[in-house]
Amino acid sequence: MTIFEKIIAREIPAKVIWEDDDAIAFEDVNPQAPVHVLIVPKKVIPRLSAATEKDRALLGKLMAVAGDLAKKLEIDKTGYRVVINSGPDAGESVPHLHVHLLGKRALAWPPG
Ligand code: AMP
Repeated sequence: MTIFEKIIAREIPAKVIWEDDDAIAFEDVNPQAPVHVLIVPKKVIPRLSAATEKDRALLGKLMAVAGDLAKKLEIDKTGYRVVINSGPDAGESVPHLHVHLLGKRALAWPPG
């Protein structure tokens, strides 16, 4: 069981800001910006490269939720970044698909 499955199962605590039957969003424990939220599907998909045709609607929903939460967290006007790290070169550290939503500061580009 990954750490995110344990958060979904409420076996370990997290600062949950939104949840429905398909996904959960909580604050990143090691924030890289004043707003740093993780949006995590409840279905276990290890990473974006492991998603299948059947997951397309869910992937779209995760993006839509990122946009909704950006509004809720009032970073929609100042701007924000949505990131998925898939695999070792991207620095993926938890093998359970998740979308990072970062904002409330100017973010450098290109990323490191
Ligand atoms: P990634 O490197 O893309 O796999 O991102 C994993 C993220 O999960 C990192 O930003 C971590 O800080 C975050 N993280 C790890 N453990 C926890 C936790 N228990 N609660 C919240 N965020 C976590």
